[in-house]
Amino acid sequence: MKIRPIRGMNDVLPDDGALWSAVESAAQAVFDAYGYRQIRLPVMEHTELFSRSIGETTDIVQKEMYTFTDRSGASVTLRPEATASVVRAGLSHGLFHNRQQKLWCSGPMFRHERPQKARYRQFHQINLEAIGFAGPEVDAEVIIMSARIWERLGLESPRLELNSLGTPECRAGYREALQAYFSAAGDVLDAESRERLRRNPLRLLDSKDPRLRELIAGAPVLRGYLDDDSAAHFQRLTELLDDAGVAYTINPRLVRGLDYYTRTVFEWVTDRLGAQGAICSGGRYDGLVAQLGGRDTPAIGWAMGLERVVELMEEEGRRQPARPPHAYLVIAGDEARRRGLGIAETLRARVPGIRLTMDCAGGSFRSQLRRADRSGALLALILGDNELADNSLSIKPLREDLPQTLYSLEEAVAELLRVRDNSP
Ligand code: ATP
Ligand code: MG
Repeated sequence: MKIRPIRGMNDVLPDDGALWSAVESAAQAVFDAYGYRQIRLPVMEHTELFSRSIGETTDIVQKEMYTFTDRSGASVTLRPEATASVVRAGLSHGLFHNRQQKLWCSGPMFRHERPQKARYRQFHQINLEAIGFAGPEVDAEVIIMSARIWERLGLESPRLELNSLGTPECRAGYREALQAYFSAAGDVLDAESRERLRRNPLRLLDSKDPRLRELIAGAPVLRGYLDDDSAAHFQRLTELLDDAGVAYTINPRLVRGLDYYTRTVFEWVTDRLGAQGAICSGGRYDGLVAQLGGRDTPAIGWAMGLERVVELMEEEGRRQPARPPHAYLVIAGDEARRRGLGIAETLRARVPGIRLTMDCAGGSFRSQLRRADRSGALLALILGDNELADNSLSIKPLREDLPQTLYSLEEAVAELLRVRDNSP
Protein backbone atom coordinates (compact mmCIF):
# COMPACT_ATOMS: atom_id res chain seq x y z
CA MET A 1 0.00 0.00 0.00
CA LYS A 2 1.27 3.44 -0.89
CA ILE A 3 1.96 5.83 1.95
CA ARG A 4 0.13 9.07 1.39
CA PRO A 5 1.12 12.54 2.59
CA ILE A 6 -0.63 13.99 5.64
CA ARG A 7 -3.74 16.02 4.81
CA GLY A 8 -3.03 19.72 4.57
CA MET A 9 0.74 19.22 4.27
CA ASN A 10 2.15 19.87 0.83
CA ASP A 11 5.16 18.87 -1.18
CA VAL A 12 6.68 21.70 -3.18
CA LEU A 13 7.73 20.04 -6.42
CA PRO A 14 10.78 20.98 -8.52
CA ASP A 15 8.69 22.89 -11.08
CA ASP A 16 7.68 25.31 -8.32
CA GLY A 17 11.05 25.56 -6.62
CA ALA A 18 12.21 28.55 -8.64
CA LEU A 19 9.10 30.53 -7.78
CA TRP A 20 9.54 29.86 -4.07
CA SER A 21 13.19 30.87 -4.28
CA ALA A 22 12.27 34.06 -6.12
CA VAL A 23 9.95 35.10 -3.31
CA GLU A 24 12.51 34.20 -0.64
CA SER A 25 15.32 36.03 -2.44
CA ALA A 26 13.22 39.16 -2.89
CA ALA A 27 12.47 39.23 0.82
CA GLN A 28 16.09 38.61 1.77
CA ALA A 29 17.33 41.36 -0.53
CA VAL A 30 14.97 43.78 1.21
CA PHE A 31 16.01 42.58 4.69
CA ASP A 32 19.67 43.09 3.79
CA ALA A 33 18.99 46.55 2.46
CA TYR A 34 17.35 47.58 5.75
CA GLY A 35 19.81 45.90 8.12
CA TYR A 36 17.60 43.08 9.42
CA ARG A 37 19.48 39.96 10.49
CA GLN A 38 18.42 36.36 10.27
CA ILE A 39 17.54 34.22 13.26
CA ARG A 40 16.77 30.49 12.99
CA LEU A 41 14.56 28.82 15.52
CA PRO A 42 13.28 25.35 16.39
CA VAL A 43 9.89 24.31 15.06
CA MET A 44 8.82 23.03 18.48
CA GLU A 45 8.43 24.81 21.80
CA HIS A 46 6.91 24.19 25.19
CA THR A 47 3.14 24.44 24.76
CA GLU A 48 2.91 27.09 27.45
CA LEU A 49 4.84 29.56 25.29
CA PHE A 50 2.03 29.67 22.77
CA SER A 51 -0.94 29.38 25.10
CA ARG A 52 0.38 32.26 27.19
CA SER A 53 1.32 34.59 24.33
CA ILE A 54 -1.21 33.96 21.56
CA GLY A 55 -4.09 33.86 24.05
CA GLU A 56 -6.21 31.10 25.58
CA THR A 57 -9.37 32.25 23.81
CA THR A 58 -7.96 32.45 20.28
CA ASP A 59 -8.81 29.94 17.54
CA ILE A 60 -5.16 29.00 17.31
CA VAL A 61 -4.82 27.95 20.93
CA GLN A 62 -8.32 26.56 21.32
CA LYS A 63 -8.42 24.28 18.31
CA GLU A 64 -5.55 24.57 15.88
CA MET A 65 -2.35 23.61 17.67
CA TYR A 66 -0.40 20.42 17.08
CA THR A 67 0.21 19.64 20.72
CA PHE A 68 1.45 16.34 22.06
CA THR A 69 3.36 14.78 24.90
CA ASP A 70 6.91 13.86 23.99
CA ARG A 71 8.76 10.81 25.25
CA SER A 72 9.85 12.56 28.40
CA GLY A 73 6.29 13.52 29.27
CA ALA A 74 6.57 17.22 28.37
CA SER A 75 3.77 18.98 26.51
CA VAL A 76 5.26 20.34 23.29
CA THR A 77 3.69 22.15 20.35
CA LEU A 78 4.68 22.53 16.72
CA ARG A 79 4.84 26.28 16.33
CA PRO A 80 1.70 27.87 14.89
CA GLU A 81 3.49 31.20 14.41
CA ALA A 82 6.94 32.66 14.92
CA THR A 83 6.72 35.80 17.03
CA ALA A 84 6.38 33.98 20.35
CA SER A 85 9.46 31.89 19.49
CA VAL A 86 11.49 34.97 18.48
CA VAL A 87 10.68 36.64 21.79
CA ARG A 88 11.41 33.43 23.70
CA ALA A 89 14.78 33.09 21.94
CA GLY A 90 15.63 36.73 22.59
CA LEU A 91 14.87 36.27 26.27
CA SER A 92 16.77 32.97 26.42
CA HIS A 93 19.91 34.67 25.08
CA GLY A 94 19.59 38.18 26.47
CA LEU A 95 19.20 39.69 23.01
CA PHE A 96 16.94 42.46 24.28
CA HIS A 97 19.17 43.53 27.14
CA ASN A 98 19.68 47.26 26.55
CA ARG A 99 19.66 46.46 22.89
CA GLN A 100 17.34 46.66 19.99
CA GLN A 101 17.01 43.95 17.41
CA LYS A 102 15.94 43.97 13.81
CA LEU A 103 15.39 40.33 12.89
CA TRP A 104 13.86 38.06 10.29
CA CYS A 105 13.26 34.36 10.08
CA SER A 106 11.37 31.90 7.95
CA GLY A 107 10.14 28.35 8.01
CA PRO A 108 7.17 26.07 8.44
CA MET A 109 4.23 26.76 10.78
CA PHE A 110 1.60 24.24 11.84
CA ARG A 111 -2.10 24.77 12.42
CA HIS A 112 -4.80 22.13 12.41
CA GLU A 113 -7.22 24.08 10.23
CA ARG A 114 -9.65 22.81 7.62
CA PRO A 115 -7.47 22.46 4.51
CA GLN A 116 -8.64 24.41 1.46
CA LYS A 117 -7.06 26.57 -1.22
CA ALA A 118 -4.33 28.70 0.39
CA ARG A 119 -5.11 27.31 3.85
CA TYR A 120 -2.96 24.41 4.90
CA ARG A 121 -1.89 22.56 8.04
CA GLN A 122 1.79 23.00 7.39
CA PHE A 123 2.43 26.33 5.74
CA HIS A 124 5.43 28.61 5.53
CA GLN A 125 6.02 32.13 6.67
CA ILE A 126 8.66 34.76 6.33
CA ASN A 127 8.67 36.83 9.51
CA LEU A 128 10.03 40.22 10.32
CA GLU A 129 10.40 41.46 13.90
CA ALA A 130 11.73 44.82 15.14
CA ILE A 131 12.12 44.66 18.89
CA GLY A 132 12.90 47.52 21.25
CA PHE A 133 11.53 50.38 19.12
CA ALA A 134 8.57 52.45 20.22
CA GLY A 135 7.99 53.82 16.70
CA PRO A 136 6.03 55.04 14.79
CA GLU A 137 9.00 55.32 12.42
CA VAL A 138 9.70 51.63 12.77
CA ASP A 139 6.03 50.84 12.11
CA ALA A 140 6.41 52.71 8.84
CA GLU A 141 9.71 51.00 8.10
CA VAL A 142 8.41 47.45 8.42
CA ILE A 143 5.34 48.28 6.34
CA ILE A 144 7.43 49.99 3.65
CA MET A 145 9.67 46.91 3.55
CA SER A 146 6.71 44.68 2.78
CA ALA A 147 5.64 47.07 0.02
CA ARG A 148 9.17 46.88 -1.44
CA ILE A 149 8.95 43.09 -1.54
CA TRP A 150 5.75 43.22 -3.64
CA GLU A 151 7.46 45.73 -5.92
CA ARG A 152 10.47 43.50 -6.42
CA LEU A 153 8.19 40.59 -7.22
CA GLY A 154 6.13 42.66 -9.63
CA LEU A 155 2.92 42.01 -7.66
CA GLU A 156 0.22 44.57 -8.26
CA SER A 157 -2.85 43.37 -6.42
CA PRO A 158 -1.87 43.60 -2.72
CA ARG A 159 -3.71 46.37 -0.87
CA LEU A 160 -2.76 47.57 2.59
CA GLU A 161 -5.31 47.85 5.39
CA LEU A 162 -4.41 49.58 8.63
CA ASN A 163 -5.93 50.02 12.03
CA SER A 164 -4.97 50.79 15.60
CA LEU A 165 -6.04 48.55 18.47
CA GLY A 166 -4.80 51.00 21.09
CA THR A 167 -3.73 49.72 24.48
CA PRO A 168 -5.31 46.94 26.56
CA GLU A 169 -6.72 49.65 28.84
CA CYS A 170 -8.61 51.52 26.15
CA ARG A 171 -9.77 48.22 24.71
CA ALA A 172 -11.64 47.45 27.93
CA GLY A 173 -14.24 50.13 27.22
CA TYR A 174 -14.49 49.00 23.64
CA ARG A 175 -15.06 45.39 24.73
CA GLU A 176 -18.11 46.50 26.64
CA ALA A 177 -19.47 48.39 23.67
CA LEU A 178 -19.03 45.31 21.49
CA GLN A 179 -20.66 43.10 24.07
CA ALA A 180 -23.68 45.37 24.22
CA TYR A 181 -23.91 45.55 20.42
CA PHE A 182 -23.59 41.84 19.69
CA SER A 183 -25.80 40.79 22.62
CA ALA A 184 -28.62 42.78 21.09
CA ALA A 185 -28.28 40.65 17.93
CA GLY A 186 -29.38 37.64 19.96
CA ASP A 187 -29.99 34.46 18.02
CA VAL A 188 -27.86 35.19 14.94
CA LEU A 189 -24.94 34.11 17.13
CA ASP A 190 -24.23 30.42 17.45
CA ALA A 191 -22.90 28.87 20.64
CA GLU A 192 -19.28 29.44 19.65
CA SER A 193 -19.85 33.10 18.83
CA ARG A 194 -21.73 33.61 22.11
CA GLU A 195 -18.77 32.11 23.94
CA ARG A 196 -16.44 34.50 22.10
CA LEU A 197 -18.72 37.37 22.95
CA ARG A 198 -18.41 36.51 26.61
CA ARG A 199 -14.66 35.89 26.76
CA ASN A 200 -13.12 37.92 23.98
CA PRO A 201 -15.61 39.98 21.93
CA LEU A 202 -12.92 41.44 19.63
CA ARG A 203 -12.57 37.93 18.22
CA LEU A 204 -16.05 38.26 16.73
CA LEU A 205 -14.85 40.99 14.38
CA ASP A 206 -12.41 38.49 12.89
CA SER A 207 -15.11 35.85 12.35
CA LYS A 208 -15.20 34.30 8.89
CA ASP A 209 -18.87 33.28 9.37
CA PRO A 210 -20.76 34.80 6.39
CA ARG A 211 -23.94 35.16 8.47
CA LEU A 212 -22.14 37.62 10.72
CA ARG A 213 -20.78 39.78 7.93
CA GLU A 214 -23.54 42.37 8.00
CA LEU A 215 -23.60 42.48 11.76
CA ILE A 216 -19.83 43.01 11.89
CA ALA A 217 -20.06 45.78 9.32
CA GLY A 218 -22.34 47.70 11.66
CA ALA A 219 -20.37 47.08 14.85
CA PRO A 220 -18.97 50.01 16.82
CA VAL A 221 -15.37 50.88 15.99
CA LEU A 222 -12.46 51.21 18.36
CA ARG A 223 -11.48 54.64 17.11
CA GLY A 224 -13.62 56.46 19.63
CA TYR A 225 -11.99 54.59 22.52
CA LEU A 226 -8.37 55.21 21.51
CA ASP A 227 -6.16 56.93 24.08
CA ASP A 228 -4.41 60.12 22.95
CA ASP A 229 -0.96 58.54 22.61
CA SER A 230 -2.21 55.68 20.48
CA ALA A 231 -4.21 58.09 18.32
CA ALA A 232 -1.14 60.31 17.81
CA HIS A 233 1.03 57.27 17.05
CA PHE A 234 -1.45 56.12 14.42
CA GLN A 235 -1.77 59.60 12.92
CA ARG A 236 2.02 59.89 12.61
CA LEU A 237 2.26 56.45 11.00
CA THR A 238 -0.25 57.41 8.32
CA GLU A 239 1.74 60.59 7.60
CA LEU A 240 4.97 58.62 7.27
CA LEU A 241 3.29 56.21 4.86
CA ASP A 242 1.91 59.15 2.89
CA ASP A 243 5.43 60.60 2.67
CA ALA A 244 6.77 57.25 1.49
CA GLY A 245 4.05 56.95 -1.13
CA VAL A 246 2.68 53.71 0.32
CA ALA A 247 -1.08 53.64 -0.20
CA TYR A 248 -3.36 52.23 2.47
CA THR A 249 -6.95 52.19 3.57
CA ILE A 250 -7.94 52.48 7.18
CA ASN A 251 -10.15 49.57 8.13
CA PRO A 252 -11.55 50.45 11.55
CA ARG A 253 -12.74 46.88 12.09
CA LEU A 254 -9.44 45.17 11.34
CA VAL A 255 -8.37 43.01 14.28
CA ARG A 256 -5.93 40.15 14.41
CA GLY A 257 -6.33 36.49 15.38
CA LEU A 258 -3.74 36.72 18.16
CA ASP A 259 -4.23 38.47 21.47
CA TYR A 260 -0.85 40.10 21.90
CA TYR A 261 -1.32 42.92 19.40
CA THR A 262 -1.43 46.55 20.54
CA ARG A 263 -1.75 49.79 18.61
CA THR A 264 -0.79 49.37 14.94
CA VAL A 265 -2.20 46.37 13.09
CA PHE A 266 -2.16 45.87 9.36
CA GLU A 267 -2.87 43.33 6.69
CA TRP A 268 -1.93 43.10 3.03
CA VAL A 269 -4.88 41.61 1.17
CA THR A 270 -5.57 40.56 -2.38
CA ASP A 271 -8.83 39.59 -4.01
CA ARG A 272 -7.12 37.21 -6.40
CA LEU A 273 -6.95 34.24 -4.01
CA GLY A 274 -10.62 33.78 -3.20
CA ALA A 275 -11.54 33.71 0.46
CA GLN A 276 -7.93 33.48 1.70
CA GLY A 277 -7.00 37.05 0.86
CA ALA A 278 -4.49 37.89 3.60
CA ILE A 279 -0.95 37.45 2.32
CA CYS A 280 0.94 39.33 5.03
CA SER A 281 -0.27 40.39 8.44
CA GLY A 282 1.28 42.06 11.40
CA GLY A 283 1.26 44.65 14.05
CA ARG A 284 2.70 45.98 17.24
CA TYR A 285 3.07 43.75 20.28
CA ASP A 286 4.28 46.15 22.95
CA GLY A 287 3.25 43.93 25.86
CA LEU A 288 4.56 40.56 24.74
CA VAL A 289 8.19 40.70 25.89
CA ALA A 290 7.14 41.65 29.42
CA GLN A 291 4.35 39.12 29.37
CA LEU A 292 6.89 36.38 28.66
CA GLY A 293 9.11 37.50 31.53
CA GLY A 294 11.30 40.24 30.02
CA ARG A 295 11.36 43.96 30.63
CA ASP A 296 8.81 46.28 29.12
CA THR A 297 9.90 46.31 25.46
CA PRO A 298 7.96 47.74 22.54
CA ALA A 299 8.02 45.70 19.33
CA ILE A 300 6.41 45.23 15.95
CA GLY A 301 6.47 42.54 13.29
CA TRP A 302 4.74 40.87 10.41
CA ALA A 303 4.32 37.44 8.90
CA MET A 304 4.01 36.73 5.21
CA GLY A 305 2.29 33.54 4.09
CA LEU A 306 4.64 32.08 1.49
CA GLU A 307 2.14 29.67 -0.10
CA ARG A 308 -0.27 32.54 -0.64
CA VAL A 309 2.39 34.81 -2.13
CA VAL A 310 3.57 32.02 -4.42
CA GLU A 311 -0.02 31.32 -5.51
CA LEU A 312 -0.53 35.02 -6.09
CA MET A 313 2.62 35.16 -8.25
CA GLU A 314 1.06 32.45 -10.42
CA GLU A 315 -2.30 34.19 -10.42
CA GLU A 316 -0.67 37.44 -11.57
CA GLY A 317 1.30 35.64 -14.27
CA ARG A 318 4.68 36.02 -12.60
CA ARG A 319 5.87 32.45 -13.02
CA GLN A 320 9.65 32.29 -13.13
CA PRO A 321 11.21 31.43 -16.50
CA ALA A 322 12.63 27.92 -16.47
CA ARG A 323 16.40 27.79 -16.11
CA PRO A 324 17.48 24.76 -18.10
CA PRO A 325 21.14 23.77 -18.13
CA HIS A 326 23.41 25.65 -20.53
CA ALA A 327 25.12 22.42 -21.40
CA TYR A 328 24.64 18.69 -20.99
CA LEU A 329 27.67 16.41 -20.99
CA VAL A 330 27.20 13.24 -23.01
CA ILE A 331 29.76 10.54 -22.45
CA ALA A 332 30.72 7.69 -24.76
CA GLY A 333 33.05 4.89 -23.73
CA ASP A 334 34.39 3.57 -20.44
CA GLU A 335 37.51 5.68 -20.31
CA ALA A 336 35.47 8.84 -21.01
CA ARG A 337 33.06 7.88 -18.26
CA ARG A 338 35.98 7.61 -15.85
CA ARG A 339 37.38 11.02 -16.81
CA GLY A 340 34.10 12.84 -17.44
CA LEU A 341 33.50 13.90 -13.87
CA GLY A 342 36.89 15.62 -13.67
CA ILE A 343 36.37 17.42 -16.96
CA ALA A 344 32.94 18.62 -15.86
CA GLU A 345 34.51 19.93 -12.64
CA THR A 346 37.17 21.79 -14.65
CA LEU A 347 34.54 23.39 -16.89
CA ARG A 348 32.41 24.51 -13.95
CA ALA A 349 35.48 26.03 -12.28
CA ARG A 350 36.60 27.79 -15.46
CA VAL A 351 33.13 29.10 -16.33
CA PRO A 352 31.57 30.36 -13.11
CA GLY A 353 27.80 30.42 -13.25
CA ILE A 354 27.59 27.81 -15.97
CA ARG A 355 24.78 25.29 -15.55
CA LEU A 356 26.30 22.02 -16.65
CA THR A 357 24.48 18.73 -16.23
CA MET A 358 26.47 15.52 -16.52
CA ASP A 359 24.75 12.44 -17.82
CA CYS A 360 24.85 9.96 -14.98
CA ALA A 361 22.40 7.44 -16.37
CA GLY A 362 24.60 5.94 -19.06
CA GLY A 363 23.15 3.94 -21.92
CA SER A 364 23.69 4.43 -25.61
CA PHE A 365 25.01 7.64 -27.13
CA ARG A 366 21.61 8.16 -28.75
CA SER A 367 19.65 7.83 -25.55
CA GLN A 368 22.03 10.24 -23.81
CA LEU A 369 21.53 12.77 -26.60
CA ARG A 370 17.77 12.36 -26.22
CA ARG A 371 18.06 13.15 -22.52
CA ALA A 372 20.28 16.13 -23.34
CA ASP A 373 17.56 17.42 -25.63
CA ARG A 374 14.78 16.84 -23.10
CA SER A 375 16.78 18.68 -20.41
CA GLY A 376 16.32 21.88 -22.41
CA ALA A 377 20.10 22.42 -22.60
CA LEU A 378 21.42 24.72 -25.32
CA LEU A 379 24.45 22.59 -26.03
CA ALA A 380 25.41 18.96 -25.84
CA LEU A 381 29.06 18.52 -24.90
CA ILE A 382 30.35 15.24 -26.22
CA LEU A 383 33.20 13.34 -24.68
CA GLY A 384 34.26 10.15 -26.44
CA ASP A 385 37.49 8.30 -26.98
CA ASN A 386 38.52 10.63 -29.82
CA GLU A 387 38.05 13.73 -27.71
CA LEU A 388 39.91 12.17 -24.79
CA ALA A 389 42.86 11.27 -26.96
CA ASP A 390 43.67 14.89 -27.80
CA ASN A 391 42.17 16.71 -24.85
CA SER A 392 39.27 18.13 -26.81
CA LEU A 393 35.50 18.29 -26.61
CA SER A 394 32.81 18.21 -29.27
CA ILE A 395 29.92 20.63 -29.01
CA LYS A 396 26.58 20.14 -30.68
CA PRO A 397 24.09 23.01 -30.52
CA LEU A 398 20.70 21.53 -29.61
CA ARG A 399 18.47 24.52 -30.35
CA GLU A 400 19.91 25.58 -33.69
CA ASP A 401 20.48 23.59 -36.82
CA LEU A 402 24.29 23.70 -36.68
CA PRO A 403 26.81 20.91 -37.07
CA GLN A 404 28.74 19.29 -34.27
CA THR A 405 32.22 20.86 -33.94
CA LEU A 406 35.42 19.65 -32.32
CA TYR A 407 37.07 22.18 -29.99
CA SER A 408 40.22 22.19 -27.91
CA LEU A 409 39.45 22.40 -24.21
CA GLU A 410 40.45 26.09 -24.27
CA GLU A 411 38.13 26.81 -27.16
CA ALA A 412 35.33 24.90 -25.45
CA VAL A 413 35.77 27.08 -22.36
CA ALA A 414 35.54 30.20 -24.54
CA GLU A 415 32.41 28.84 -26.19
CA LEU A 416 30.79 28.11 -22.81
CA LEU A 417 31.67 31.61 -21.56
CA ARG A 418 29.96 33.04 -24.61
CA VAL A 419 26.83 30.92 -24.12
CA ARG A 420 26.70 31.77 -20.43
CA ASP A 421 26.87 35.49 -21.13
CA ASN A 422 24.24 35.39 -23.85
CA SER A 423 21.53 33.42 -22.07
CA PRO A 424 19.44 34.25 -19.04
P1 ATP B 1 -6.31 34.04 8.22
O1 ATP B 1 -7.14 35.22 8.61
O2 ATP B 1 -6.21 33.86 6.72
O3 ATP B 1 -6.64 32.79 8.96
P2 ATP B 1 -4.38 34.62 10.21
O4 ATP B 1 -4.91 35.89 10.73
O5 ATP B 1 -4.67 33.37 10.96
O6 ATP B 1 -4.84 34.44 8.67
P3 ATP B 1 -1.61 35.10 10.85
O7 ATP B 1 -1.62 34.23 12.04
O8 ATP B 1 -1.51 36.55 11.02
O9 ATP B 1 -2.84 34.73 9.91
O10 ATP B 1 -0.46 34.59 9.86
C1 ATP B 1 0.20 35.46 8.94
C2 ATP B 1 0.03 35.00 7.52
O11 ATP B 1 0.25 33.61 7.39
C3 ATP B 1 -1.37 35.20 6.96
O12 ATP B 1 -1.52 36.49 6.48
C4 ATP B 1 -1.43 34.19 5.85
O13 ATP B 1 -0.82 34.72 4.68
C5 ATP B 1 -0.58 33.07 6.37
N1 ATP B 1 -1.39 31.97 6.91
C6 ATP B 1 -2.02 31.91 8.10
N2 ATP B 1 -2.62 30.72 8.26
C7 ATP B 1 -2.38 30.00 7.13
C8 ATP B 1 -2.70 28.67 6.68
N3 ATP B 1 -3.41 27.84 7.43
N4 ATP B 1 -2.26 28.28 5.46
C9 ATP B 1 -1.52 29.10 4.69
N5 ATP B 1 -1.17 30.35 5.06
C10 ATP B 1 -1.57 30.80 6.25
MG1 MG C 1 -6.23 31.98 10.89
